[in-house]
Amino acid sequence: METIIQSLKAEREKPFCAYLYDLPKLRQHVSQLLATMPPPCQLFYAIKANSDATLLKTLAPLVHGFEVASLGEIEKVRAVDKNIAILFGGPGKTREEMEGAIHHRVQLLHVESLHELQLLNHIAGQKGVVVTILLRVNLRDAVPNAKLKMAGVPTQFGIDESDIHAAIALANQLPNIKLAGFHFHAMSNNCDARTHAEFVEHCFGKADKWGTEWDIDITYVNVGGGVGINYKDIENQFDWADLMARLEKTLAKYQGSNWNVLFECGRFITSSSGYYAAEILDIKKNHGHHFCVIRGGSHHFRLPAAWKQSHPFTIVPIENWPYPFVRQEVSGALVTVAGELCTPNDILARDIRVPKMRVGDILLFSYAGAYAWSISHHDFLSHPHPEHLYIEEDSILGEEKAAGTNIWALHDSINLV
Ligand SMILES: *Cc1c(COP(=O)(O)O)cnc(C)c1O
Repeated sequence: METIIQSLKAEREKPFCAYLYDLPKLRQHVSQLLATMPPPCQLFYAIKANSDATLLKTLAPLVHGFEVASLGEIEKVRAVDKNIAILFGGPGKTREEMEGAIHHRVQLLHVESLHELQLLNHIAGQKGVVVTILLRVNLRDAVPNAKLKMAGVPTQFGIDESDIHAAIALANQLPNIKLAGFHFHAMSNNCDARTHAEFVEHCFGKADKWGTEWDIDITYVNVGGGVGINYKDIENQFDWADLMARLEKTLAKYQGSNWNVLFECGRFITSSSGYYAAEILDIKKNHGHHFCVIRGGSHHFRLPAAWKQSHPFTIVPIENWPYPFVRQEVSGALVTVAGELCTPNDILARDIRVPKMRVGDILLFSYAGAYAWSISHHDFLSHPHPEHLYIEEDSILGEEKAAGTNIWALHDSINLV
């Protein structure tokens, strides 16, 4: 990646700033995940992590489908693939979204409340169709201590576990609803395979119990996403093989069941193949602390500021120095990496010891393929957007060539993950 960036910089005069996606790496990573999943399991990509059209096109032939949370996301998926399976969840679905979901032939709707159940039945009745749903459960306990919790604590997500019997009873009565199982997405960025496996086992236990009590023909148990990235120690990542080995044992206990076990991962799928590269514009010392200011910042890459954590980076040396005056540099010191916005919150990494860093060198942030560009406030301060570049085996494509269209680059997502 370092030499790619050096040669890209050599072709450009303006300060360098780009997202780079390594598509062969993405394909290889996803193929590896799929190869280790036991047979009843299916892998969906939760596109809110990164809904870039080129990434969706790259993933579509590999994954079992996409998970979406809005009509806009349904349309993004349908723009790249007319037939791929779609799971549609998220709180507060509107009538328009439900109609859109039926129109776009969504495979499963994840219903998050009793009101949604009634509304969906009403709309499906008007259209003369039966909609297959999973009930999204907000579990009362057993949710691992991940970075963000959507369940196991009071949140706007899902149906309180204590109301689940009322929801099943209602679903059974509604003529245009077919209940096909349960959905349990409960957390984000869990880095521990063992607690993740325990969570999945807990979900299986609940689904099995409710299935038996209510004589439901369960086709799907969706255990959600939430598999994490260890941004603090990038050499030490989530042990997917361990999760799969534990899952295999748990599945053996439910051998009689005909469940499809659905995973809908976002971060874990695209994070590692995305990079954010930004040139150093200035280096200074204020109140005894070193700062480097980059071309770019949290308006492109909001994740570190959102979580108030330092994001891992390396320094790509750029030897060319076009000016007659001395190049500012810092060596062996603690440096805080700031963006170009006029707010002290625009920090990407704080007090990181760097070997040598010069104005004009490029910082390369790894694990920037998920919840990065898609959650950022792109137009705050009206600086230029970064380039979006897609690395293939033998070429690097700009966004227009890669996607056949660049409309997604202009689409601001406001998911604040
Ligand atoms: C965000 C989300 C996901 C994906 O979460 P990751 O932490 O990126 O794996 C999956 N399912 C639902 C319902 C979500 O809201």
